[in-house]
Amino acid sequence: MSERTLIIIKPDGLQRRLAGEIIARFEKKGLKIAAAKLMQVTPELAKKHYAVHKDKYFFDRVVKYISSGPVMVLVLEGEKVIEITRKMMGATFGYDAEAGTIRGDFGTSQTFNLIHGSDSPQSAEYEIGLYFKPDEILDYKMPDAEWV
Ligand code: ATP
Ligand code: MG
Repeated sequence: MSERTLIIIKPDGLQRRLAGEIIARFEKKGLKIAAAKLMQVTPELAKKHYAVHKDKYFFDRVVKYISSGPVMVLVLEGEKVIEITRKMMGATFGYDAEAGTIRGDFGTSQTFNLIHGSDSPQSAEYEIGLYFKPDEILDYKMPDAEWV
C-alpha cells in the first residue's frame, strides 16, 4: 500500500546547493513527488514540527536551525516510502551516517544534517498537515509506475 512522507531539505542543504542532488536521489529510487515548495519556516511552525523534542536540551538549537533560512519541503509517495527515505537519509548525525546515505555523503555535523524525513505514518500525517494544504498535494500517475 502506498504511503506518504514529509521531506524537508533543511537550510544547510539549500545553502550548500544540494537540493537538486537530494531530490535526484529520490527520483532515481522511483519515489513520486506529490507536493513541493520553497518556504521560510517560522519559529512558531518549527516549534510545532519539533514538539516531540520540546523537553530536550537541543530543542532551541533545532528550532533556530530549521527556521534560519529557506527550506524546500516535499511530500513523497510510494510503497514503504517512510522506511526507504529514512534509510536513504542515514543516521541523524553526519559522522555516524553510513557512506552512500545523504547525511553520510554530504555532512559531518550533529545539528546541521541537511534533511528531515518523517519517522512513522503518524508523524508523517501530522507533519504533512503542518506544511501543506490538501489541495497542494497532487494525485497523478507516473508512466513507469508498473516497473518501479
Ligand atoms: P529529523 O527529525 O530532523 O529528520 P532525526 O529524526 O534523524 O532528524 P531526531 O532525533 O528527530 O533526529 O532529532 C531532530 C533534529 O535535532 C536532528 O535532525 C538534529 O538536527 C537535532 N539533534 C538531534 N539530536 C541531537 C543532539 N543530541 N544534539 C544536537 N542536535 C541534535
Ligand atoms: Mg525526527
